[in-house]
Amino acid sequence: MMERNGLEPDRQAVEAMGRELLSRIADHVEGLPKAPVSRFGGAGDAVARMLLPPPETPGTFHWLLDDFQEAASYGLDPSHSGYLAYFPAGGLVSSALADALAQVFNRFTTVADLAPALVAMENGVLRWLAGLFDLPEGAGGLVTTGGSAATLTAVVAARHDRLGEDLTGARLYVTEHTHYCVAKSARIAGLPASAVRIVPTRGLRMDPAAAARMIEEDRALGLRPFLLAATAGTTSTGTVDPLPELGELAAREGLWFHVDAAYGGGLRLTERGRARLAGIGRADSVVVDPHKSLFLPYGTGVLLARDPGTLSAAHADSGDYLQDRRAVGGLPDFHHYGVELTREFRGLRLWLPLHLHGVAAFRAALDEKLDLAALVHRELAADPLFEVPWEPDLTVVVFRPRGDDAAGRELLERVNAGERIFLSSTVVEGRFFLRINPTSHRTHAAETRAALEIIRGCARAVTG
Ligand SMILES: *Cc1c(COP(=O)(O)O)cnc(C)c1O
Repeated sequence: MMERNGLEPDRQAVEAMGRELLSRIADHVEGLPKAPVSRFGGAGDAVARMLLPPPETPGTFHWLLDDFQEAASYGLDPSHSGYLAYFPAGGLVSSALADALAQVFNRFTTVADLAPALVAMENGVLRWLAGLFDLPEGAGGLVTTGGSAATLTAVVAARHDRLGEDLTGARLYVTEHTHYCVAKSARIAGLPASAVRIVPTRGLRMDPAAAARMIEEDRALGLRPFLLAATAGTTSTGTVDPLPELGELAAREGLWFHVDAAYGGGLRLTERGRARLAGIGRADSVVVDPHKSLFLPYGTGVLLARDPGTLSAAHADSGDYLQDRRAVGGLPDFHHYGVELTREFRGLRLWLPLHLHGVAAFRAALDEKLDLAALVHRELAADPLFEVPWEPDLTVVVFRPRGDDAAGRELLERVNAGERIFLSSTVVEGRFFLRINPTSHRTHAAETRAALEIIRGCARAVTG
């Protein structure tokens, strides 16, 4: 009944497992509106059980999936419409199904001639994204596990391109709102902490005049400015740095211009996002996370380079064991562009949803998210219970109840204790803020209005 060698189930078993898996997927999605968004505490027994080593004898698919679902029931659920914290990742079902198929076929897609048309599938999505950011014909890149891996790949390319082997006196420019992965990448790339210069901000945005002054001062000291990292949608507040001015400055000074659009990049599909990210086309490298603003499952990041030759100059290598492989005209060997050689085929998880749902569906969903953020901002700003200092550039709204930081912390605790919505917090200019980000593809106007009601109710309890 089961497998010939214990590892290969027969057709009947494959189909039975598939049916069971699909019905659990459908049940999960259907059950979300009634499910809690979080369940903290009480995981002790489950944690202990999940740590047990695997048995010698076969288990039962059904019970093992039950184990998974129990394990997944603790903590926080980013696939839930009430998940308004950090960056939601609903995880499009079409993308998850694409993964299952891609991984059973298990083709090798970092060397083009081993799967040319699959590599073309992945590269087609990358070229489309490059066009979305106004990068020139010939731009290219790769799909990574996320923004952090993409950023490291970009920083290593920038280092190689602008500094060569000598790292002495290197300087790169960020702000206090830049994601930590830029400084971390610099550290991994062998640069000392002193290489990272924090440029002052105005209204949460990098101040181009201040950046110009710092670059000039550093040059006067004999240092070597090489990289300017702008953010198109900061993690804390979703703010977009002044990309046209910063791109101009980087070009004038011969610095590599990196734009971190990990969160904001997807919104470029909308007219409003397009306008707010104007100037991104000057970038030498762009990072965008489809697992943030394109609703894909976690594990999907993208790096784009204006000149992919800069990626291969830094990352390409070869071994005798690869001597049989031939370059394929017009298709990249992705292993030359970054860190990984063997990896799963990540192209289908992007290609399938884009082709299945169509780009217009993504644009409409993202437009809706911009509307939701505008609604949240309007309602909270009009309410005397709250302080809402900044209008959102994209979909993140930060706010605090009138009163001190402790009131903010108490509000956050009360809101999240209800387990219907989940918010996160941040610190901006030294003060505690709650942060709400309605960007899941499952969060619509009704869910957002319900969230506002919960927040108002809790705020009255805190301040009254
Ligand atoms: C999330 C984020 C990152 C890091 O990306 P991961 O996919 O979490 O590794 C980098 N930059 C910004 C602006 C982000 O929001």
